[in-house]
Amino acid sequence: HREQKETEQKFADHMKEKSEASSDFAKKKTLLEQRQYLPIFAVRQQLLNIIRDNSIVIVVGETGSGKTTQLTQYLHEDGYTSYGMVGCTQPRRVAAMSVAKRVSEEIGTNLGEEVGYAIRFEDCTSEKTLIKYMTDGILLRESLRESDLDHYSAVIMDEAHERSLNTDVLFGLLREVVSRRTDLKLIVTSATMDSDKFAAFFGNVPIFHIPGRTFPVDILFSKTPQEDYVEAAVKQALQIHLSGLIGDILIFMPGQEDIEVRDMAAIINLSKDGVRKCIVATNIAETSLTVDGIMFVVDSGYCKLKVFNPRIGMDALQVYPISQANANQRSGRAGRTGPGQCYRLYTQSAYKNEMLTTTIPEIQRTNLANVVLLLKSLGVQDLLLFHFMDPPPEDNMLNSMYQLWILGALDNTGGLTPTGRLMVEFPLDPALSKVLIVSCDMGCSADILIIVSMLSVPAIFYRPKGREEESDQVREKFAVPESDHLTYLNVYMQWKNNNYSSAWCNEHFIHTKAMRKQRMNLISCGSDWDIIRKCICAAYFHQAAKLKGIGEYVNVRTGMPCHLHPTSSLFGMGYTPDYIIYHELVMTTKEYMQCVTAVDGEWLAELGPMFYSIKHAGRSRQVRQSNASIY
Ligand code: ADP
Ligand code: MG
Repeated sequence: HREQKETEQKFADHMKEKSEASSDFAKKKTLLEQRQYLPIFAVRQQLLNIIRDNSIVIVVGETGSGKTTQLTQYLHEDGYTSYGMVGCTQPRRVAAMSVAKRVSEEIGTNLGEEVGYAIRFEDCTSEKTLIKYMTDGILLRESLRESDLDHYSAVIMDEAHERSLNTDVLFGLLREVVSRRTDLKLIVTSATMDSDKFAAFFGNVPIFHIPGRTFPVDILFSKTPQEDYVEAAVKQALQIHLSGLIGDILIFMPGQEDIEVRDMAAIINLSKDGVRKCIVATNIAETSLTVDGIMFVVDSGYCKLKVFNPRIGMDALQVYPISQANANQRSGRAGRTGPGQCYRLYTQSAYKNEMLTTTIPEIQRTNLANVVLLLKSLGVQDLLLFHFMDPPPEDNMLNSMYQLWILGALDNTGGLTPTGRLMVEFPLDPALSKVLIVSCDMGCSADILIIVSMLSVPAIFYRPKGREEESDQVREKFAVPESDHLTYLNVYMQWKNNNYSSAWCNEHFIHTKAMRKQRMNLISCGSDWDIIRKCICAAYFHQAAKLKGIGEYVNVRTGMPCHLHPTSSLFGMGYTPDYIIYHELVMTTKEYMQCVTAVDGEWLAELGPMFYSIKHAGRSRQVRQSNASIY
């Protein structure tokens, strides 16, 4: 016992010293000194020279070397912003926002003036903006309006190793833009892997390495496979905490739900304020955001990926084992400020034999409908000939084209229809764009816009730990028996009737922030909500299910059983309509349909004639799958 007391005391002393030292560093060093301390600063001039001499340069450097925050500023200081903006793309919204904020502080201006950011639904830039951080999706959309990106003098494609869908499409487009515009600089950054491949793709362009400053990291594997990675991570973090070793802990978890686990709060409470940080993050902390002072990494070995599932014919977000490249990036986070340790919650054999070397690029595993729409509208005739670094499987491409065809966005020859042209304008999934377009003809655009907005923001309802029942009861009061979509509309209307009050949101377990994202004013169909249900049906008829047995549904097209999600307004209400459409399918232990609306069988036949027809069997009319020739 005494020994432990002594260790604790020693530990507390160490921590005090350390925290004083680190806050001193931040206090004493000016932002300029902090900038000059970064590894990239030592090679600033060499880097600017190579950029001046080449149109395209690949820049490789460890996480934290200063690529994201400094490159834009160097280009600005070197005069590039005199004839256009310096743009920097990020695969993640959070990264675009937080980095822009940091850089505006370093330059000493207000965010949104000289330094700004743009993400979907949010533009924080102005006339003055010279350095613009944005998601890669934003730049892709800008290239629609301005195919030569004339507003830019330089584009930095950051985090290219992530190989997001949009990054991969931009690769193909920007390669062409640079060949047309000799004054445009393209810089592609990567955290080590794949850089040779990038260089080759852009025509054997130079690769510039930023010398790193890293310390050795001890890698410790699990002896046996872990059954529950959350529990294992909590145990591991506690063990580190009680070991008396100094340093902050970074835990990698696949998703937000795992981060919100109650047990984690227990760890944070254990530490004295500001003495030891324990950060739980998704793979955003692998390379996108730098967390300084990490000595310990706990790696669950999992991440969430959007993957096209051919069985259900759509994308599903699922937890997958990470790749070896992810694992190495994660462990690297422990060696930035001094020697560190990485606890991998999986066995060495799993790492060697089961993990892929690198993650399969998104373009090879997700639905490409939006990419197809975008490329078609840019005039790319034959998509199978588009210059992709790693071409998507032909089946995925054809499947996405098929999906666009059933929504009326492509004609029989594969050309863009007027509806398709309209759909490109919306930064939404094709089906959601279609609902909006149809709603104008059906006279319910105001209502549909609310519903589409509600589906486009993070979850509206929350369910706090310990108050589950109470929040469920409040939520049930909003339920519209025949539709989750209408339930959302109902929530919005009631919020509006309560003067958009945030107190009202809190009382009703509704995220105020998510609600405030909705702003609109259009034609409403009033209380005739059947119109709204039919309108939604016009774009979601391909995701229809039919009642089979008590409370059991099967997909009308495939016959696959699918279940009402327990959070659905239709769940356990005793009202089980014969036909429903669903917004998305979530796969956990079972296939759950999320956000469901009751529809008439006849609407399905009317709106989705390529799939369904009415069968007159005796006196009852039934919808069935029509002639399979379209398949
Ligand atoms: P890289 O892109 O090479 O990974 P960054 O430019 O993102 O590197 O970060 C360089 C350094 O700038 C980090 O190590 C950190 O010290 C500092 N930094 C970056 N973003 C922030 C921020 N939002 N707040 C405080 N410091 C930051
Ligand atoms: Mg970066």
